[in-house]
Amino acid sequence: MNHNTGAILVLSGPSGAGKSTLLKEIMPDIGACYFSISTTTRKIRKGETDGVDYHFVTVEEFKADIEEDYFLEYANVHGNYYGTSIKPVKKALKEGKLVIFDIDVQGNDEIRNRLHDITTSVFITPPTLRELKYRLEARKTDTQDVIDGRIEMAKKEIQRICEYDYLIVNDDLSQAATLLRAIAQAARLKIPSHDINEFTIKWEDID
Ligand code: ADP
Ligand code: 5GP
Repeated sequence: MNHNTGAILVLSGPSGAGKSTLLKEIMPDIGACYFSISTTTRKIRKGETDGVDYHFVTVEEFKADIEEDYFLEYANVHGNYYGTSIKPVKKALKEGKLVIFDIDVQGNDEIRNRLHDITTSVFITPPTLRELKYRLEARKTDTQDVIDGRIEMAKKEIQRICEYDYLIVNDDLSQAATLLRAIAQAARLKIPSHDINEFTIKWEDID
C-alpha cells in the first residue's frame, strides 16, 4: 500500500549511545526524510552548529516559545530544556516524508500519546554501562560532571525500554546500522487508521 501521509521514527537512548552516528550512516539510504532539529537551552558543544544540530536558545526564549504553543512536545532533560517544533514536522508529514526525532523517553511518551498510529520507536543503547562511559569520555565533548550526570540518567532511561517498539544494541556499528535501516523502511509502511478505511473501500471497488 502506498499512502502519502508520512510517518514518524523516534530514536531514544542514553546520550552517547550512538544515535547521531547511526543516523548519519543510514540517512543516505532511507529515502525522503526530515530530521527534526530540536530547540535547546543547553550550551553548544564543540563541533556542533546552530541550526543544524539544534536551535540553541536562552531559557527566556524557550519559555516564550512554550507560551506560543510552538512545541509538539518538550521536556527538561539533564537540567536543560529540549523541544520539538510543530511547524516543520507538519510540513514534512504532509510531504509524505519520514520524520526522525532524536528525543528522550519523556518525548517518546508524548509522541506516542498524540501520534501513535504513524509512529515507530527505537531504543538504542551501547552493550554495557561501562561502554557508554567509555564512549562519552572518548567523545571529549562533556566535562566529567556532565558525563556522570548522563550515566546516572542512563540507568533510569534503560528501565523504560519496554515503552519502545524496537531495541538496538549498538555494539558493531555496521550491524546496528543495518538493523536501523530495516526499521526505518518498515516505519514508512505503518498504516494510519484513517487510511485503512480508504484503502479497503478502493480495494473492494471491482466495477
Ligand atoms: P548520541 O547521538 O547517542 O549522543 P553519538 O553518536 O554522539 O551518540 O556517539 C557517542 C560516541 O560513541 C561518538 O564518539 C561515536 O563516534 C561513538 N560511537 C558510536 N557508535 C559506536 C560504536 N558502535 N562503537 C564504538 N563507538 C561508537
Ligand atoms: P544531548 O544533549 O546529548 O544532545 O541530548 C540529551 C538528551 O535530550 C538526549 O536523550 C536526546 O534524545 C534528548 N532530546 C534532544 N532533543 C529533544 C527534544 O526535542 N525533546 C525531547 N523530549 N528530548 C530531546
